[in-house]
Amino acid sequence: MSSVPVQHRQLYINGQWCDASTGQRITVVNPATEEPLADVSFGHRADAAQAIAAAAQALPAWMKLTAYDRAKFLKKTAELMRERLEVLARTMTMEQGKPLAEAKGEVLHSADTFEWFAEEGKRAYGQVIPPTLPTKRHLTIKHPVGVVGAIAPWNFPITLLCRKIAPALAAGCTVVAKPSELTPLCGIGLFECLHDSGLPPGVVNMVLGPGDAIGAEFMENPAVRKVSFTGSTRVGKLLMKQAADQVKRLSLELGGHAPFIVFPDADPEVVAKAAVIGKFRNNGQVCISPSRFYVHKDIEKKFTEVAVAEAKSLKMGNGLEEGVVLGPMIEAKRLEATSALVADATAKGATLLTGGRKSPQFARGYFFEPTVLKGLPPDAKILTEEPFAPVMPVLDFSKLDEVIAQANNTRYGLAAYVFTNDLSIAWRMAEGLEAGIIGLNDPVPATPQCPFGGMKESGLGRELAHEGLEAYLETKYVSMVLRS
Ligand code: NAD
Repeated sequence: MSSVPVQHRQLYINGQWCDASTGQRITVVNPATEEPLADVSFGHRADAAQAIAAAAQALPAWMKLTAYDRAKFLKKTAELMRERLEVLARTMTMEQGKPLAEAKGEVLHSADTFEWFAEEGKRAYGQVIPPTLPTKRHLTIKHPVGVVGAIAPWNFPITLLCRKIAPALAAGCTVVAKPSELTPLCGIGLFECLHDSGLPPGVVNMVLGPGDAIGAEFMENPAVRKVSFTGSTRVGKLLMKQAADQVKRLSLELGGHAPFIVFPDADPEVVAKAAVIGKFRNNGQVCISPSRFYVHKDIEKKFTEVAVAEAKSLKMGNGLEEGVVLGPMIEAKRLEATSALVADATAKGATLLTGGRKSPQFARGYFFEPTVLKGLPPDAKILTEEPFAPVMPVLDFSKLDEVIAQANNTRYGLAAYVFTNDLSIAWRMAEGLEAGIIGLNDPVPATPQCPFGGMKESGLGRELAHEGLEAYLETKYVSMVLRS
């Protein structure tokens, strides 16, 4: 069944595939079968330093190219990703666990991201600003930030690298990227496309190694001017402290705890089906996954009934098998954390309507049954800690102001979902909710041309859209005096 035999894969530094200086390797495991997929070189700070030096050396020539010339490499990368869709998606399913159709969707979204930034790089406009004195002229020009350190997690192992690499390259920056140690094969597949696009050596580099060591090199090496991080709020806070020493530019895409709010004019059956698709996509291991379901008390019973039936009907299994919509979780640790969250909720009085345990259907693999809970007390941990799990806690509400207050009662502010056909309610919710991304009757809002990112402890800055390009540009103000 496997199309990726167990093999040795390497780091990518200065246009070359190479072993880690430590000689160390890690084994990547298929979460559906617990079988090894590959051995991958696992570096340390010295490898990151070497990659940073290569990126710094490549920077002057890369930033001098026009945006039109840089766009050719980005478009070629997008084309190669589309050509290699099947291989990239199968690698992702085997390494990360998500079903093949979802993996294909991720690869195509990633190719679209490269193509979109190829064009947006051409729109790194400055401004001409009217002067107060007749002899003066003022203008701004855009300047690439410089070498970028990019750190990504495992849940969208290609897309989240692309959201950093594509705009950085389009802006004229060079990059050292670190994929998650759980999903390096996806990063390697992406870097094969980047290599084959003909990019000059050193423009993009990939190192794998312990997060804290590679992160420290990014933060302490003065050649790195910006760090872009997607991952947990815990690590994001750490990086923010470390960035202070060199006033390092920082973009942070962190955790979320999205409310999913259903008003009584919405069709509970239709919305419950959409809710189940949204919740269990990638096993809830999604930063914008809906994780608290507030359903108006008039329709809560019907909504919950349909949601439970739908959750029970989801076909779980190895994501390479036909019809499977729910794969394994990423690692055994996540199963334990999910069981603990469910146990905490039920111990405090919540009712378990379905699921709640590691699936007994499978002898191997990290499968957790899709779970629906109701009757949760406010102190249930799942209502405040980011669950990152296939668990759907259903709560009810009766008033708009009350549900806004409950939805905002979290340190996170990444995404929020509202289901209603009433325009006034939709506007009040869009304006009242503290979230960077709001889906109005839309459970899947991410797209390359729209800004993605969070308020509060969900992060700093935005990826995608024009904001995602600006994140890799400095604004230089130029003032001149004319000869009289
Ligand atoms: P994580 O923070 O443990 O790891 C993310 C990356 O950081 C990995 O590559 C890891 O090796 C590296 N890392 C770990 N410790 C580090 C350190 N001290 N310094 C520098 N890098 C370090 O997160 P995870 O478990 O891999 O990913 C899940 C988290 O990511 C969730 O909280 C999720 O919400 C978040 N996430 C956010 C977004 C977003 O766009 N806001 C998208 C996807 C995931």
